Amino acid sequence: MQNPVIVCLDLEGVLVPEIWVNFAIKAGIEELKITTREMPDYDALMTRRLKILDHHGFTLADIQAVIDAMGPLEGATEFVAWLRERTQVIILSDTFYEFAFPLMRQLGYPTIFCNQLEIASNGRIVHYKLRQPNQKKHAVAALKNLNFFVMAAGDAYNDTAMLGEAHAGFFFRPPDHLPKEFPQFPVTHTYAELQACFAQAGDLR
Ligand SMILES: [Mg+2]
Repeated sequence: MQNPVIVCLDLEGVLVPEIWVNFAIKAGIEELKITTREMPDYDALMTRRLKILDHHGFTLADIQAVIDAMGPLEGATEFVAWLRERTQVIILSDTFYEFAFPLMRQLGYPTIFCNQLEIASNGRIVHYKLRQPNQKKHAVAALKNLNFFVMAAGDAYNDTAMLGEAHAGFFFRPPDHLPKEFPQFPVTHTYAELQACFAQAGDLR
């Protein structure tokens, strides 16, 4: 008999838009469009982002209102509901609880493991805290250690360790170059395709 199944999903690019990029567009702040692609030093990038937010006078509530208006990707809420009727779902994300919150409400509050922001009494974001390096991979390894059969899906470099650690890992709408580098992970482009992969690999009905 197979162990009980848990599905681990990346958040940005899989269920919701890229939060920083879309926030930059919605808020009209050009200089916030820079990502880890242009600035590989994550600490330097985050410090810069927080400085820009502060410069524009954004409080957490302002930012949450913009993120709220983004909404999940089309079909994502139904996809999560489909999965949760059949198995357990945990979202493993490198974003922050405070940013994810408005989107989690729209996704029906699935479980999410991510990082924290430090908020001052005036609502400004003063610092951030990464819970643990390489947390996606560690979470999957811990779930395997608890005797779950773990399946995962993600779209980017920061997901590949999670996909590799899982019993079954799938790409969802990755950039073209990624599947060439990681041909071991099947590529899916629609929620229907991903559902079919999970259904088959995890024997979900
Ligand atoms: Mg992603």
